[in-house]
Amino acid sequence: MEENVTPENEVMTILERLRDGGLWQPAGLGLSYVKEEDKHVKLIEQENNPMSAQARIRMRMLIESVGWSVDESEVHVIDTKDISPQERHMQEMMMRQEIAQSWKCNCGTSLAVFELEKGVWTFDGQQEMTLPDGGTETVEQWSVVVECPVCDAKIPMEPYDYGLLAGDEAMLTYRTKKLNYIALERIDIIRKIDSNEHDIVVLGTFCPFHGDMLPPHVRGSVVTWETLEEEE
Ligand SMILES: [Zn+2]
Repeated sequence: MEENVTPENEVMTILERLRDGGLWQPAGLGLSYVKEEDKHVKLIEQENNPMSAQARIRMRMLIESVGWSVDESEVHVIDTKDISPQERHMQEMMMRQEIAQSWKCNCGTSLAVFELEKGVWTFDGQQEMTLPDGGTETVEQWSVVVECPVCDAKIPMEPYDYGLLAGDEAMLTYRTKKLNYIALERIDIIRKIDSNEHDIVVLGTFCPFHGDMLPPHVRGSVVTWETLEEEE
């Protein structure tokens, strides 16, 4: 039996999955919400056009219909008419990074000061997703578990959120229990091939040495590696 997907239960699912301080941008509406506390979101940005203005009213009604509340007291209205898509993208990235800087552990420690490069990629199983055409697709669920340096709490983060906070550098290395993979740039690949160095491998779904399952972002990467412990 298929469950009836209504706009109400769709929005409910999204809201319930948001972390405190998490950003939600419903696709194509030009609206940005941040979850503030239990059952409460704040609209922080609205694009300055009639479509977004109308969507804002609709979304408010929808969100309130599932028992959540919306704070619209400090909405930043963004003019997008005279800026290029690239500039708009830059603005959005800056906003997302700013929001990420505000994330905190329950003990009050900012996630930004965690040793993020030690985040542990964790496979959380498969999940069925419903596609717009009604079909389904099985997708892998991953999280990155980071540890609070003050209270030792282990906090799972969405991979996208982790990338925002940890930065691009952290996405270019990947640590299994035994190896540290380091993504190579084109120039390093050429140099290694030319000088006949063989510590280079293209990754697939599993670690070619130890069989660990690798997260999607490293698959297809050309990497070198460092051994983390002596092998027996
Ligand atoms: Zn803590």
